[in-house]
Amino acid sequence: MISYKELGLVNTREMFAKAVSGGYAIPAFNFNNLEQLQAIIQAAAAQKSPVILQVSKGARNYANQTLLRYMAEGAVEYAKELGWEKPQIALHLDHGDSFEVCKSCVDMGFSSVMIDASHLPYEENVALTKKVVEYAHQFDVTVEAELGVLAGVEDEVSSEVSHYTRPEEVIDFTTKTGCDSLAISIGTSHGAYKFTAEQCTRDPKTGLLVPPPLAFDILKEIENKLPGFPIVLHGSSSVPQEYVEMINTYGGKMPDAVGIPEEQLRKAAASAVCKINIDSDSRLAMTAAVRKVFAEKPGEFDPRKYLGPARDEMKKVYEHKICNVLGSNGKA
Ligand SMILES: [Zn+2]
Repeated sequence: MISYKELGLVNTREMFAKAVSGGYAIPAFNFNNLEQLQAIIQAAAAQKSPVILQVSKGARNYANQTLLRYMAEGAVEYAKELGWEKPQIALHLDHGDSFEVCKSCVDMGFSSVMIDASHLPYEENVALTKKVVEYAHQFDVTVEAELGVLAGVEDEVSSEVSHYTRPEEVIDFTTKTGCDSLAISIGTSHGAYKFTAEQCTRDPKTGLLVPPPLAFDILKEIENKLPGFPIVLHGSSSVPQEYVEMINTYGGKMPDAVGIPEEQLRKAAASAVCKINIDSDSRLAMTAAVRKVFAEKPGEFDPRKYLGPARDEMKKVYEHKICNVLGSNGKA
């Protein structure tokens, strides 16, 4: 048993309380490799933003859960080296799908876990979430749960259709489970293809897809029922068209990739939403930068020469999100 506190990590309780009262949101960035982690920590340290490092099932399969945990421990020390005296970094399990996975993360030093039982019948979601909360809270590890189902594909989490969160369930669910934060479904979606062309309208000038707006009425209802309770948005990448264009220009093929417009995320961050998950946007930045190097310098074979520019591009994305979308800069 390793406590995250020994590693210099923090849980999400205090950062969420401050974000809710301050009208901003904490960035939750997924990482699978060194360059992503460096870019996240460089951006958070430069902007003094609390940050949540997320590890998904796909990341655990790809990079190994133990190795990622040690990388997060290293990230705390790296942040200090960069001049961030008291880094506020949480290490969070994204979409834990069983008690056993959540327990193993708690036991090895994660400061926060998500139990995603949202695909199960309501009472089973309550029971499994409660079991994880009871275990995690013994060690002061915070727990995110989910009500409602997001559409889209993220690693091995996928669903064809979304089911919006039912506001009439949220009080009962949070009371019975004791969870610390709640992920809801109000129209965000996992992946880089969040909406089909049929769900969107097309901008007559640019020809680009314009996605349907988020269900802010549902968010408002949930906020009214749970005043001050931390709400989480998954699937909240904006899929910047500059990166989609770069990818397509340099030999890629991503037609009609579309995300959540940033002004909608800004509006959500100013409300009860205090954690916003962003993964696809850094993937796009990385892919665009790597493709550009390969197209312009076909003889290049030193990975540092293409992963380096990719890291710099991701850092730009993270700083932009922190400063211009979530408003978490200067809060740590
Ligand atoms: Zn998610």
